[in-house]
Amino acid sequence: MTELHDLIAAFAAIGATADGGVCRLTATPLDKDARDLFLREIAGRDLLPRIDAIGNMFGVAVLAPASKEIVITGSHLDSQPTGGRYDGVYGVLAGLLAVQAVRDRALASPGKARRNLAVANWTNEEGARFQPSLTGSSVFAGSLLLQQAYACDDGDGVTLGDALAAIGYRGASPLTFEPLRYVELHVEQGDHLEREAADIGAVSGAWMTRKISVMFEGDVSHTGPTPMGRRRDALRAAARAIEALYSEVELANVGVHASAAKISVFPNSPNVVAGRVRVWFEVRHEDEAVVLTLGDRFLARIKQEASAIGVDISIAADERRAAPTLDPAGLELVRGVASDLGMKTLTLKTVTGHDALAIQKRIPSSLIFVPSKDGLSHNPREFTAPEALDKGYEVLVETLWRMVTAEG
Ligand SMILES: [Zn+2]
Repeated sequence: MTELHDLIAAFAAIGATADGGVCRLTATPLDKDARDLFLREIAGRDLLPRIDAIGNMFGVAVLAPASKEIVITGSHLDSQPTGGRYDGVYGVLAGLLAVQAVRDRALASPGKARRNLAVANWTNEEGARFQPSLTGSSVFAGSLLLQQAYACDDGDGVTLGDALAAIGYRGASPLTFEPLRYVELHVEQGDHLEREAADIGAVSGAWMTRKISVMFEGDVSHTGPTPMGRRRDALRAAARAIEALYSEVELANVGVHASAAKISVFPNSPNVVAGRVRVWFEVRHEDEAVVLTLGDRFLARIKQEASAIGVDISIAADERRAAPTLDPAGLELVRGVASDLGMKTLTLKTVTGHDALAIQKRIPSSLIFVPSKDGLSHNPREFTAPEALDKGYEVLVETLWRMVTAEG
């Protein structure tokens, strides 16, 4: 599929970095260049361009004029500062060509298509410049208010709403069809497919995340005069807790991913023993029970260890993000298509966030992975072989064809 590879190369040139990667942050002039090129590709293929208020872009193929329904495929054109050439872009460009291919097939078999089809570029999937991530798809799904999305700040005083207006992508032509299903093709951000020598990953859902933030309370005291035995050092207890998390993960030995990645220290002065420290911990695994059990065991352990050195702990936040499930019927369809095409398929869960997970809150959504070399992403060395990209594209085309032609 030379056309797909050429398109990926053309988009990789926009925001290309010297090390072979891509830096194309949301609503920057480089994002505008990529959007402009995508818009030209949409128009050049006789698809109807649509841009909604949060800058989500669509290229619509009207396959069944009497139907209000539409199936959507797509991904995102924005990147991380140290992005690669495939994350997001692959799903948008393969989606663009797949919509064209399905339309050609529909034209060759009049009356077969029962609904319409569109390719989408969702705004600010990465969340590198504006947080939260998955912004455009969350507004589309109705789980994030448009005004809240506009108000997201980039840390330099620019809001997403203003930045979109500045590049001319605060649109006024939303999709007027009734969204029925969503399918996203993406490179796996992990190495499961490569290790299993599988062609296609059919994604059933995402990992569960437990975000625990713990407050350690001791006493502030002067480093010089305070005897060691009289100290209640909150930072010392926090240090033990950070190590305890890694130790619990190692003991459990079931593939949990965890971190302690943010800390605040009071008074944060070089010669004052810390009186109050807050640490943000995360525990992730595909099995909810594993996450809950490990989190509870960790909390019990650090409470005991902190009290042994005179520090009290309290839980400032304990947020459990349940493992979202993607559409089971879509999963079966993708697995069936890949098998019909003679490809080896692995059913797996995604560790990372994707627009499909946000859109699942509104309509049944599916996520298809292709292998990524060494599991690298958000990295200039991110790489998927051309033949592997083509296999994903073939599965996408057939999946979309079955979705637009399915009865009922
Ligand atoms: Zn992505």
